[in-house]
Amino acid sequence: MSFFEVVDPRFSSFVLGNAPVKQLATGFDWVEGPVWFGDAGCLLFSDIPNNRILRWMPGAGISVFREPSNYANGNTRDRQGRLVTCEHGARRVTRTELDGSVTVIADRYQGKRLNSPNDVVVTSDGAVWFTDPHYGIMTDYEGYRSEQELPCNVYRVDPSGSIEAMLTDFACPNGLAFSPDETRLYVADTGRMFGSDPQHIRAFTVAEGGRLSGGEVFHAISPGCADGFRLDTDGNLWSSAADGVHCLAPDGHIMGKILVPEVVSNVCFGGRAKHRLFITASTSLYAVTLNRVGAGTL
Ligand code: MG
Repeated sequence: MSFFEVVDPRFSSFVLGNAPVKQLATGFDWVEGPVWFGDAGCLLFSDIPNNRILRWMPGAGISVFREPSNYANGNTRDRQGRLVTCEHGARRVTRTELDGSVTVIADRYQGKRLNSPNDVVVTSDGAVWFTDPHYGIMTDYEGYRSEQELPCNVYRVDPSGSIEAMLTDFACPNGLAFSPDETRLYVADTGRMFGSDPQHIRAFTVAEGGRLSGGEVFHAISPGCADGFRLDTDGNLWSSAADGVHCLAPDGHIMGKILVPEVVSNVCFGGRAKHRLFITASTSLYAVTLNRVGAGTL
């Protein structure tokens, strides 16, 4: 069988015909938040219900990076290479300093507790952008059941530490990422409840200081939802879906699919040439080498 489904013929040049979609590890409960540490030669990702961040290293396999992780979900790196993490359980976003100590980036907005930060990216100006849906406080499965104090917003924390709600008209914002030149911000809306509408990605134009405009629907994912996505250096967006990873062109049309036998949650680029797509999917970690290069910090 093929690992790929070509929709637009140009997609054939994005993939390598003889590169497998390889299961690197399995046996987890629900994994998300992959982030590549090229300097350390490893990938970190969250096994959310098991309250831990795991490390995968070529040749060495899986080890525990942090346990308990406060039910960590999304992870990324800032421009200094530091790990930035969304924690459902502590309802906060943190930075792990190079000495291993943990700094709180955000846990409140206007005096109220955040819901359960889900996904995070850092721009070249050092601002930290994250989504704050209520999924992690709905039940005790991926955090602690609790009252929602704030709407499900998208926030920006500027380098001075001040936090601002940038997007306030989402049912539940989830995955987010910037275009390679940071002039566009993509944010998924994945609905209040599992499987509820909307299930789409919106696109915003980014101006000085992170001001946003636009917000039209960029693409409606089907089947499944845009739990997480990352972009390549040509601006193609690689999104989670229920049947694998969907590659979307900068104009929003689907180019093709990487077929994965489990529901995909998040992806990130990594590997020696930033050309390997790591895929967290339900109970397993997968990877596939592409003829594309990932954008952003790695
Ligand atoms: Mg997510």
